[in-house]
Amino acid sequence: MSDHNCIFCKIIAGQIPCTKIYEDDQVLAFLDVHPVSEGHTLVVHKEHTCRVDSTEPLAMARIGEVLPKLTASIQDAMEADGYNVLCNNGFSAGQVVEHMHLHIIPRKTNDGVFKQWPSFQYPDGRAAVIAEKIRKNLAL
Ligand code: 5GP
Ligand code: ZN
Repeated sequence: MSDHNCIFCKIIAGQIPCTKIYEDDQVLAFLDVHPVSEGHTLVVHKEHTCRVDSTEPLAMARIGEVLPKLTASIQDAMEADGYNVLCNNGFSAGQVVEHMHLHIIPRKTNDGVFKQWPSFQYPDGRAAVIAEKIRKNLAL
């Protein structure tokens, strides 16, 4: 299923041009039009879903199948030292386009793109409480 208002569905349908990297019957990868680094690539499943948690496991698995080859090819082509695989889910997490997608961002040592995100330490006992809450939902 596609969404008429979705820009990535329009790209998948060929109604909006893109610079294609890879395509099969289920998956499309294309260059991000506003890259963080050269070779910054977006990977989408052709079925429209908004977020990881609303995507069929088999669709995620299909993306997973092509990811190692894609990341290796992008890293080699860009002569990068590494890469980030990112997926923003929801407005609070920075998602702008509401068609689930992975970013592959080639990285070079000291490229200044970003180094680390803020982190903290759990106070005593808090990690166990959090883990239990999540495990309860997994069991549903
Ligand atoms: P998000 O913040 O939703 O994770 O990222 C959406 C990404 O899609 C952004 O990095 C943005 O540059 C890219 N993007 C938005 N519109 C288009 C488009 O029409 N074509 C391409 N190739 N990329 C797009
Ligand atoms: Zn879509």
